[in-house]
Amino acid sequence: MVLSQLQHFKPQLLSEICRSVSIPSVQEEARDGAPFGRPVREALDHALDLSRRLGFHAVNVDDMAGYAEAGEGPEMVAVLGHLDVVPAGEGWSRDPFRAAVEGDRIYGRGVLDDKGPTLTALFALKAVVDAGWPLKRRVRILFGCNEESGSRCMAHYVKVEELPVAGFTPDASYPIINAEKGMINAFCEAPFAPSGGLSVLFLSGGTAPNVVASRAEALLGGTPDLLDLAEKIARAWSGPEGSSVAVSAAPEGLRLSMKGLPAHASTPEKGVSAIACLADLLGRLPLAGEQAAFFEAFGALIAYETDGRSLAIARSDAISGALTVNVGTVAVEEGRTRFVLNIRFPVTERADKVLSALRLSLTSRGISLVSESHQEPLYVSPESELIRKLQKVYLEITHLEPTLLAIGGGTYAKSMPNIVAFGPVFPGQDYKIHEADEYWTVDDIMLNARIMAHAIIELGR
Ligand SMILES: [Zn+2]
Repeated sequence: MVLSQLQHFKPQLLSEICRSVSIPSVQEEARDGAPFGRPVREALDHALDLSRRLGFHAVNVDDMAGYAEAGEGPEMVAVLGHLDVVPAGEGWSRDPFRAAVEGDRIYGRGVLDDKGPTLTALFALKAVVDAGWPLKRRVRILFGCNEESGSRCMAHYVKVEELPVAGFTPDASYPIINAEKGMINAFCEAPFAPSGGLSVLFLSGGTAPNVVASRAEALLGGTPDLLDLAEKIARAWSGPEGSSVAVSAAPEGLRLSMKGLPAHASTPEKGVSAIACLADLLGRLPLAGEQAAFFEAFGALIAYETDGRSLAIARSDAISGALTVNVGTVAVEEGRTRFVLNIRFPVTERADKVLSALRLSLTSRGISLVSESHQEPLYVSPESELIRKLQKVYLEITHLEPTLLAIGGGTYAKSMPNIVAFGPVFPGQDYKIHEADEYWTVDDIMLNARIMAHAIIELGR
């Protein structure tokens, strides 16, 4: 019955996905009634209007988010999606904001991340209701509006609205992600005033805390003989495979341009940090005072390590593996050096424990932990009702193994209690999320619709 309902709604589902994708809902400056900009508000209005046309109770949550609801009962389960998108970027072979069904695909920014899955969930709920399945729990399809730029939408929702007893977000991949490591960004600082005959005048590296730096640069100034010596040491330096340094003359003295290999900060061991390489090289130079002390401390506490061993924060568990550390960015300002550590810690650990051990190690070497932001880990037991039900549905519909995944990154599931990531991308599937020519196939849309409809039936029981 649900299948025939889904077939019935297929043309409308595809055309409403195209309509939504054609709204360029990239975050813009806040306006009245549009905290994430007008286009995001327009995408929210479209989803709420569509929900009402489908006969759902639809609510705008203070212009920050929205939801459609069906079913009865004191408890509520949720499907969490988002309607904001990242900018189109370069390299598209067609207009990223003029979606249409082309053969067996729809192309457009947001069609897979995450407007398509969000609206597919809405129609899956409609099919369940129209097929006459009794829902003893209310089911909410949540429309997030700020996932790509900090998830302030759900931070607000969690403060003012009812929380689900269970649910999933189709904003990552199948089968089911039941463990996501915790994350800390630690902002560190140390005195770095130039002194002596050779000094670092400029230091900069990395682009973001969550990326292994592939570039770092330093500018050295000093007496001619010490600059000569520095140049000799720099030219003789060799680091890990994949790294290289370019040494060149500059009006101020000597420029060192370090290259490493980029990687995601959740797997820093797959990259080569240009910051670690440059710190290693600078630590070998005849610097003096605070600058010499800093590189000595950096070498003793971090060096090339990505497991936090010398910082005394190394730990691991059987569920999610080992803690990782990435030195995301470094800069020198006003006689101080500032760097950011991006730390991913196992699901059985808590942020405050990691932070207190980290603070102790850093301060013992003259480095201050100036500020931090963190997310606690996410872990939902394999024995829980939510995981057992999602596994059952996934196996029944796809005949694929419903393996549970543990990841070092974070998904939208972390923005709300009792939610795990479930879909929409299948194992081994080619996808272009955040890239040019993002697309979703009509077959995958309909397969997702079936999975979601059955997940809604199971969770709504
Ligand atoms: Zn997304």
